[in-house]
Amino acid sequence: TKPKPRVIYWFRTDLRLHDSPALKAALDLEPECLYPIWTWDPHYVYRARVGPNRWQFLLDCQSDLSASITKLNKKSKLFVIRESPTTLFPKLFKAWNISHLVFEKDTDAYARDRDNEVTEIAKKAGVQVITKVGRTLYDPDELVKQNHGKPTMSISQVIKAGEQIGQIPRPIPAPASLPDPGDTSLNFKQDHPSSEPDINAPQRNSSDQSYAHLAGPQGDFSVPTYDELGLKPSTTPHHGGETAALAALDKIISNTKYTATFEKPSTAPTAFEPQSTTLLSPHLHFGSLSCREFYWRAQDVVDNFKQGTASHPPTSLTGQLLFRDMYFGAQAALGHKFGQAYGNPSCRSVPWHLPSKVNEDTGLVVRDGGGGGGVEYSIDSSTAETWFQRWKYGCTGFPWIDALMRQLRQEGWIHHLGRHAVACFLTRGGCYVDWERGAAVFEEWLIDHEPACNIGNWQWLSCTAFYAQFYRCYSPISFPQKWDKDGAFVRKYVPELANFPAKYIYEPWKAPIADQKAAGCLIKSIDEEGEDGELDLSPWKKEIVAEKHEANGAQNGDEKKEKESMNI
Ligand code: FAD
Repeated sequence: TKPKPRVIYWFRTDLRLHDSPALKAALDLEPECLYPIWTWDPHYVYRARVGPNRWQFLLDCQSDLSASITKLNKKSKLFVIRESPTTLFPKLFKAWNISHLVFEKDTDAYARDRDNEVTEIAKKAGVQVITKVGRTLYDPDELVKQNHGKPTMSISQVIKAGEQIGQIPRPIPAPASLPDPGDTSLNFKQDHPSSEPDINAPQRNSSDQSYAHLAGPQGDFSVPTYDELGLKPSTTPHHGGETAALAALDKIISNTKYTATFEKPSTAPTAFEPQSTTLLSPHLHFGSLSCREFYWRAQDVVDNFKQGTASHPPTSLTGQLLFRDMYFGAQAALGHKFGQAYGNPSCRSVPWHLPSKVNEDTGLVVRDGGGGGGVEYSIDSSTAETWFQRWKYGCTGFPWIDALMRQLRQEGWIHHLGRHAVACFLTRGGCYVDWERGAAVFEEWLIDHEPACNIGNWQWLSCTAFYAQFYRCYSPISFPQKWDKDGAFVRKYVPELANFPAKYIYEPWKAPIADQKAAGCLIKSIDEEGEDGELDLSPWKKEIVAEKHEANGAQNGDEKKEKESMNI
């Protein structure tokens, strides 16, 4: 008789058991053993910009998933293996006698390259690869196909293409049991030496055939700890994991009025504890929540709500998920070039004061670079660099912008319209700094960072792609005033202004000096010159200056000084 399949299920951004078409495909093989694994992705671990808050969210998701797997099979867990998939798999396939590798399809530009490489490796090893779509409502490649091979650049294109594809699949339940994992020893033969040096690995001599260190410091494949990763502590109050995601979804769906009548433009960007939107985005990113589960739970509420009173796409909850699919479709068509203006046929090039630098050999943008690239700009790019740094660290002097950027750095999440406000401010609305610089900051700090959505939304907001006729500019004063007259949001995230009169909370430089003194926060101009004549770009220094509430000599009635560009 034919031997039963021996299967590796490779978890990546699908850290859940519910509604996982790929996991179902693995179980449908009725395997003799199933290894649920997560590999140390070198891109994520060493090269991507991932701040401690997103790391925390990922580790939460892994721990929760591992515990859920163990609940279904005491011998099993999420086996976290600390090596790159491209060097690890050839060894695992052989050592564990694997017949099938199963994973969720991922059309992210980097992921696609990685998965193609792994698929080739599997083929060479005689291992069958099975992939299924579950990360998006529709298969992004199908969306592109039905959009005449073009990137999906508008919601109507997504809806039209979706009609051709057919109904969004209904979610499938979580499995009731899981097979045993089989032998998990890592005694590989040395014929596949790791080409990816692992900086955490202990020194080994060439005859040593034990790779036990790949299973972590305790050798038990456990989810990494902060210590092991050498990370700074996280500061986010938001926690990951499928259990938390499903509980949050239940709570949202049980409020039928909220779910059925949700209209994005009517949700307050100044709301906190609780926020006005679902905050499910990080769960959707890590796959601790299935987007189809979310879609159908919301759609079912809409279908059963009073006729004619429910909201509809694009502003409804389901419409938000369609936007997500739109950006995945755009990225699926454009690949790596989607992430930059240079060489991207869908993105307008703008002579920003502070542009990104392009590597002439690869044609790809150098992410951490600034510089002029031979183009003449209307202001000195080092001045724009200062603006950029002040924006990044919440030291622009506009309390609304600073509050948002501090919330982002501390908590890893800000409301969509808050993202609009800071993105508009950095790009076309204020500093005229390249959207790619802003997108890189979001990449580091967002817990929901999704390459397709981040890039796409920055292009939208900077009017370089998607909705390039987006004329709306967000005033850092009148826009937040509309939502939060008293400035509670600003008071929370810019505590220097906690006692400022509501009248001046969004433009504190207008407050008479007596009011500033009474509120314990004096508004002063920033000295651009550091001690040695260099530009002082260390914004934290400015925060400290603000906290000390130092006076800069602004006199009562000295309006000119009061109006100078201020720091808070
Ligand atoms: P809800 O309003 O509750 O919406 C439900 C879900 O729909 C979200 O969880 C999200 O998955 C999806 N969604 C909603 N709006 C959008 C949108 N405009 N584009 C794509 N998906 C959407 N979203 C990310 O998931 N990752 C990012 O890296 C990201 N970067 C952004 C950068 C900028 C400059 C801007 C303006 C927006 C960005 N967004 C990003 C989109 C959006 O702001 C967030 O998805 C949303 O604020 C998440 O909060 P929520 O879960 O409460 O959303």
